[in-house]
Amino acid sequence: MTTKKMFIDGKWIDAISGQTRDIINPFNQEVIATVAEGNEIDTKAAIAAARKAFDQGDWATTPATKRGAIVCTIAEFIERDKEELAELESLDTGKTVEESRVDMDDIAGVFRYYAELADKDGGELIESPIPNTVSKVVREPVGVCGQITPWNYPLLQASWKLAPALATGNTLIMKPSEITPLTTIKVFELMEEAGVPAGVVNLVLGSGNTVGAELSTHNDVDLVSFTGGIETGKKIMQAASGNVKKIALELGGKNPNVVFADADFDTAIDQAMNAVFFHAGQICSAGTRLIIEEKIHDKFVDTLVERVKNIKLGSGFDEKTQMGPLISAEHLAKVEQYVETGKKEGAKIAVGGKRPQDSALKKGFFFLPTIFTNCTTDMTIVQEEAFGPIITVETFTTEEEAMKLANDSIYGLAGGVWTSDLLKAERCAAAMRMGTVWINDFNVYFPHAPWGGYKQSGIGRELGKLGLEEYTETKHILHNLKPEPINWF
Ligand code: NDP
Repeated sequence: MTTKKMFIDGKWIDAISGQTRDIINPFNQEVIATVAEGNEIDTKAAIAAARKAFDQGDWATTPATKRGAIVCTIAEFIERDKEELAELESLDTGKTVEESRVDMDDIAGVFRYYAELADKDGGELIESPIPNTVSKVVREPVGVCGQITPWNYPLLQASWKLAPALATGNTLIMKPSEITPLTTIKVFELMEEAGVPAGVVNLVLGSGNTVGAELSTHNDVDLVSFTGGIETGKKIMQAASGNVKKIALELGGKNPNVVFADADFDTAIDQAMNAVFFHAGQICSAGTRLIIEEKIHDKFVDTLVERVKNIKLGSGFDEKTQMGPLISAEHLAKVEQYVETGKKEGAKIAVGGKRPQDSALKKGFFFLPTIFTNCTTDMTIVQEEAFGPIITVETFTTEEEAMKLANDSIYGLAGGVWTSDLLKAERCAAAMRMGTVWINDFNVYFPHAPWGGYKQSGIGRELGKLGLEEYTETKHILHNLKPEPINWF
């Protein structure tokens, strides 16, 4: 097996230390690839390449139409290689190939969206109160961007950062999660093939504590964009303060899914499952906190439990599989620990709560889809992000109580509300302190809509026009067409 390399200054290279890392299939623990394991020295080399490409290269001043065309070509190559990319993502993460195919369509869509936006902002003339002056506002690239991505949606999260950064003329260094780098490596090959100039995009493989920390700290990095856990996000904020980097943080959520008794029952059941069990709950927007109106609680939970019992676990490459394994042994242990804590704190397991017994799954990091009832808002399992296939159920009797429960979280990423009363739906959407609210739906994303969180779910937005603006600085230029002496001093 040849070692997959890093991409620095337009060249594919091994780690300076010569170290490598094995990448494991979470379904059976087989080694699926060996990749270079970079460290601070490799990261510094990548930052130097990106700095030089930004300061001395012509990417930032390349006409936006041309940059957009290159970003569009990347989208075309992703579509061309969709099947290979989808299989690679499933091998690396354990998710079903069907889910990975959807991801690849989304990813191509993100590159296309930002390709189209690249040349749409020609700046703005603003009214100047000073005679004989012209005042305009333009947007320029931020500079060198550090981009740190997680393991749950490796390439999707990467696309949300790569496409807008490229479209706006930045240079960048990406660090994917050390355990899921394979599709990101492939997309760097596609970006090279699409004609992105040397030094503009750099890929460093390695751990967060070395590569990620260097990217967050280094004075030549102007912006750091991070998606991952809240504790890491806090460390990055501190590290970034040295040179007052711009920061964009997406730190997950503990997302409420509020179901009123007047909701379409069957659809709400379907979506309560989809909200959590896609990719075994390893989704920042998973609707893990199910908040049900008391009068439908028993029927809703009984129906859900019967449906959950039938979820088919297995290989992401088996067409019948509905849910794959968790990402790693460490993560499985963390999820199990949360379940133990939930039991100790008095929540009741209605279904699941343990690893499956099926011998065909014993090498994989599987955990059964789990529903906890009798939950209260103060429980750890209700407040903290387990990032596994776990639903906690709470109940309410009034709309006011439902909203209080929904908002009782340090997170504020997303939430859903199910009701046939449109006014109530709008009132709830207004009351929910979250970056996204879905009414009679859940987990819907598309490139045009901004994504990000209130409260400790993060800072800034990805996707949409705001996702592009994160990668720009705003400059006001005042041109005095008739300069005159003013004789103040
Ligand atoms: P992390 O936050 O540790 O990892 C996310 C990325 O940050 C990885 O690339 C990681 O590198 C990197 N990183 C780690 N430490 C640092 C650091 N000090 N400086 C800079 N970068 C760093 O997530 P985990 O994988 O540990 O998952 C922990 C929890 O985070 C999950 O259980 C879940 O609750 C949440 N999470 C949220 C996600 C979201 O979408 N918001 C996505 C993934 C996780 P490395 O390769 O070494 O891990």
